[in-house]
Formats: sequence, C-alpha cells, structure tokens
Amino acid sequence: VMAIPELLRQAAQKDPNRKAVVFQNWSMTYGEFDRLAGVMAANLRAMGLRPGARVAVLLPNLPQTLITYYAVLKAGGVLVMMNPLYMEKELYDQLADSGAEFMVTLDLLWSKIEGLRRKVQLRKIVVTSIADALGFPLRQLYKVKAWKQRTGTDVPYGDENVVKWKQIVQGRETYSHVYSDPHHDVAMLQYTGGTTGVPKGVMLSHYNLTADVQQCLAMLPKLKTQQHTLLAVLPFFHIFGLTVCMNLSVALAATIIPFPRLVVDDLLKAIQKYKPTIFPAVPAIFVAMIQHKKLAQYKLSSIDYCISGSAPLPVEVMNKFESITGAEIIEGYGLTEAAPVTHLNPLDGQRKPGSIGIPSPGTDAAIVDMEGGAVPVPPGKMGELVVRGPQVMLGYWNCPDETACTVRNTWLYTGDIATMDEDGFFFIVDRKKDLIISGGYNIYPRDVDEVLYQHPKVKEAVAVGIPHPTRGEIVKAYIVPKDGESIEQSEIIEFCSQKLAKYKVPRRVEFRTELPKTLVGKVLRRALQQEEMEKAQ
Ligand code: ATP
Repeated sequence: VMAIPELLRQAAQKDPNRKAVVFQNWSMTYGEFDRLAGVMAANLRAMGLRPGARVAVLLPNLPQTLITYYAVLKAGGVLVMMNPLYMEKELYDQLADSGAEFMVTLDLLWSKIEGLRRKVQLRKIVVTSIADALGFPLRQLYKVKAWKQRTGTDVPYGDENVVKWKQIVQGRETYSHVYSDPHHDVAMLQYTGGTTGVPKGVMLSHYNLTADVQQCLAMLPKLKTQQHTLLAVLPFFHIFGLTVCMNLSVALAATIIPFPRLVVDDLLKAIQKYKPTIFPAVPAIFVAMIQHKKLAQYKLSSIDYCISGSAPLPVEVMNKFESITGAEIIEGYGLTEAAPVTHLNPLDGQRKPGSIGIPSPGTDAAIVDMEGGAVPVPPGKMGELVVRGPQVMLGYWNCPDETACTVRNTWLYTGDIATMDEDGFFFIVDRKKDLIISGGYNIYPRDVDEVLYQHPKVKEAVAVGIPHPTRGEIVKAYIVPKDGESIEQSEIIEFCSQKLAKYKVPRRVEFRTELPKTLVGKVLRRALQQEEMEKAQ
C-alpha cells in the first residue's frame, strides 16, 4: 500500500537524471522534480497548510501543475483539481463544496478568482504564470515580457494572501508527510465530469490512485520494456489525464510533455517535435486528427501506443488512426469513482475492437439485471456493469445518500449498460441515462452513432432522444458534415434505414458546425436535449 508521493520518490531514486518534464525549451529531471515538490511542500506547510486541508488547483497542463500535484500530497493536503475553463459560478460551487483553503492558479485566470475569493474559504492563493514555466530561471526574457503585456493582469501581489510562484519553489528545506493509513487517507476530491448532471466530489484515497496505476501496469507489462516519452494533452484536472498522464507516467519514469492547448494543428506539430512513444487521448481527439486536412504532412510514427477511454471509440476511427500512424490503440474503460480504470484491452494481440477489454487484475466485474441490480445476467445479455476492487472510491464528499446508492455491498454501480462475451471481454452498450425509449422500444443511441459514423460525408454525429407527444421519445441525429460537404436529411434517413431496425432510424436530423462537448470531448447529450425542451415550450 503506497501513498502517491512514493511514486515520484521511487522514480527519482531509480533514475535521478532522467528527464521528467519537457516544456518548450525548459526541462527538469526526476531528481529535480522530486526535490522541487518537496520544497513546495515545505513552503505550503510554512504557510499554514495542515494535513487534510483542501488545495484547489486551477491550472492548465503546465510543469507547475505536475509540481503542485505532488507537492500538495507531500504536504499532506487534499487536492481539488479544477477545470480552468469553468466560469465563476462553477468555480464557486466546487470551492464552496470542497471548503478549499488554498489555491494554486495562473495569472491569466485571476479575473475569475478575484470576485469570489472572499466569498469562499480561500486563505492563500499561489499565482504562477506561463513565464514561470518558461524559465526557472527566467531565461526567455522577451517571451516573459510579451506574456506580461498580453495578460495585462492585475494580480494584487502586494496582498499578503497572494503568493508568487517563485516564492513557493524557493528554499532548501523539503518536506514529505508520512501517511500512516494510505488506505483511508484522502488524496483528492475529484469532481466527476458532469456529463449527466451536477459534478459530485469523489473521495479518492492514496491507495485508490496507486492501486489503479499498479493495475494498469500489470495489464500492460510491455510498457515497462522501453523508456517512454508521453504527450500529456488530456487535462490533468480530469481523472483520466491525472492517472495516465501523471501518475502512470511517473511510475514508468517517462518524460512528460505537458500540452496546455488543444489545437489539432499544434498537437500534430508537437508530436513531430517531441516524438512521444505514448499518446493517450479520447475519441474526439483521434477523430479530429484523422480528419485534419494536412495530416499527411506530419510524421507521427514515433507513437507506439495510444490509450483511449472516456467515451466509446468507433471501430472505424480506431482502424484508420492505427493504419495512419502504425500505433496500437489500447481501449480502456473507467470512471472517476474508480480512479478511473477498471477495464483494459490486453497488449498482446488479443484486443477486441469495440470492446473495453477485460477487468484489470484485482478488479471484479459483473453484469447484473438493470432493475434490481442483484441478479447476474448470462454472457451476451445486457445489464448494468458493476465493479469492485482496490481502486473504488471511499465515497462521495458530503453525499452519503448518493454513496449508498452507488456503492452497494462493496460493488460500484457504474450506471453503464454492458455485455460480456464468452471470452470474458466486456462491451459498453450505453449509459443507463442515455437510453432512448421510443414507442416502448429501448434504443441504445450508440448503435445509431456507429451507423452515422459510417456515412462517408459525416465528420461527427450523435443520436439523442427528444420528447415526442405519443411515442415518449424519438431519435434525433445531430450531424457535423465533413469540411466542404453538404448532406440532405433524406440521405441520412435513407442510409440509416438500410442498416438499422425501423424504430431506431432517426426521425429528425439537424446539421451543425460543431457539437457541444465536455472538456474531455464527450458530447453533451443533455445540452442538446435541453435545447429541444426549450424549443418545445
Ligand atoms: P458525470 O458522472 O458527472 O455525469 P462523466 O460521466 O463525464 O460525468 P467520468 O467519470 O469522467 O464522468 O466518466 C465516466 C463514464 O465515461 C463512464 O461511466 C462511461 O459512461 C464513460 N466511458 C468511459 N470509458 C468508456 C469507453 N471506453 N467506452 C464507452 N464509455 C466510456
């Protein structure tokens, strides 16, 4: 049973001179990373941080985010990673709910904090800037100046509760909290993605998080046979990016390339420049890459492995991406409540496209009846996926009723409908909440999505259930055509009629230039449904 800071210490002891983080022209070794995190921990303690205190981190993917993460845990604090694109109301909700007393943020984001910092319990705010990341010491002076002009921030550095980044990573003293009970010591309050409702704070212990890393490694032993560079484009504030791009990378002593801006052009350039061997991403990113006009100009062959999760990866997309890059995409499955990975495809030729793979070692998984949730269903039959294992959360923060509903008898009810085949491979059918019931028929929108993606002119598509006076719900397809293509509604309906049972064929089709998404690229079905409801009123 390990606490998170152990992962970093082990990497630093094993390979102190290995490059841990590369950001533009700046880099740091594992030895330096561990030391800086220890220094920052000592400074946080000196600022009054006590074990168990919550520290909000509002940062994009930067070296500072990595240092802060391990520093807070070395100091004995509890992390609350927040999405920098959140606006005041969303930030307020998470700060108030978590009771965060400390925050680490970026000068660019100051305007979001200024108005609410006194309304919540924030005592000290550490403010960093892109310039801090570019120079430890500030080498690229001209860039620093340019940033200052561009941001024009009015961070009140004179305020005694506002602390400059430089101050917090300075000093000789280091600190590392001793966790006597990593099983139960909370490391993070990790808020869920909010795809289906208001985000809930998930209490993850040190053990939950380190167990998940060990389980992934046990499933993918081949990863340990080479030295890796990993491009971290998945946000560190989301559990997938956090476990895979941070903790798993550190456990592999990989070189991490934090990538703060998701622009496909820049992403392709970064792959060419940094030559990552591992590229974890979500389906929306793979889709955007294979659709990119200049894709052929870039050399992407350094990538050996991709890890995909968070949403279903259409088989078409997987095949195309693999044939272009020569990489292998390992599809996995998880959820915030399980830190997150519970299933992965094995890395030795037994992958099944369209499947989330098999439970990781130490994970029990079963498919149970959808109503009562107590009776296992036979292979091939649909039911709700339930899991249990060392990575399953301690519970939701401040929501004992929700916890009792979601974790029953040690089993975590995922809310996902799945099947298992005779070989023990699991397939996600859909989320229970996305199920469309039309005229008494159950329709799994993912079946419709898969067909829509097969249409040659379709770039992105999603099927949603919208209210209907007599059928309860009907299927509506939202489609983004490929660049330069125009499609008729009738073409889509005709195409679907050839491939789907009549009741599943979309009755309505709407064309858009983009689809609303969460930050990890999940289509926000509920936003589309909301629009429909508003229209109906
Ligand atoms: P909220 O729980 O607040 O609605 P969220 O679902 O986005 O938000 P996460 O914990 O980030 O919260 O996502 C977990 C969900 O993502 C799973 O329950 C599942 O529906 C979906 N998911 C993850 N991996 C896959 C996959 N490989 N295929 C299909 N769905 C997946």
